[in-house]
Amino acid sequence: NHGYIEVVVGPMYSGKSEELIRRLKRAKIAKQNIVVFKPHIDDRYSKKDVVSHSGDSIEAIPIEKASDIYNLIDEDVQVVGIDEVQFFDEEVVDIAIDLANKGVRVIAAGLDMDFKGEPFGPTPKLLAVAEFVDKIQAICSVCGQPATRSQRLIDGKPARYDDPIIQVGAVESYEARCRKCHVVK
Ligand code: ADP
Ligand code: ZN
Repeated sequence: NHGYIEVVVGPMYSGKSEELIRRLKRAKIAKQNIVVFKPHIDDRYSKKDVVSHSGDSIEAIPIEKASDIYNLIDEDVQVVGIDEVQFFDEEVVDIAIDLANKGVRVIAAGLDMDFKGEPFGPTPKLLAVAEFVDKIQAICSVCGQPATRSQRLIDGKPARYDDPIIQVGAVESYEARCRKCHVVK
């Protein structure tokens, strides 16, 4: 019996974590053996849980690198959840494939594009090898159309293409926006 790879992608606030949590909770209700991982760097709301913006949560293990997954699952694992998958190294793709080959249902959620609108980390590769892909939308905070991109704002103004990832002293925020309202100078 083989497993498979499911990927849930979209911009920030599209409900990726919500959808991941929903699928994992249903597997849990069915008494399946599940383990959930997230990158160590993502500490929005909670270090140990995957938390959606709407407040729903499920217990997760923060890991430094994708290969840590092997040390933290056992033979009888049936479902592996991975949130914020874009922050992992490319190896996460090989691990997802390997687990699926061994019979595990792998559910990964993450950003498909960075704030520039460019493919984000290992996500594009994962999308290519997945059996099931769901690309979900938020609501554009400018015009109300379906939002597919994450707008990065620095002190309330659209971030520039070359702006550093961490800007000391500046207030950084994000908004969900559509193609037309998404600005990268
Ligand atoms: P993601 O993991 O994709 O960032 P979450 O599951 O954490 O998404 O959050 C989705 C929730 O974010 C929605 O249910 C809603 O309550 C909230 N939200 C905030 N801003 C927006 C927006 N512009 N469009 C849609 N939902 C939004
Ligand atoms: Zn718009």
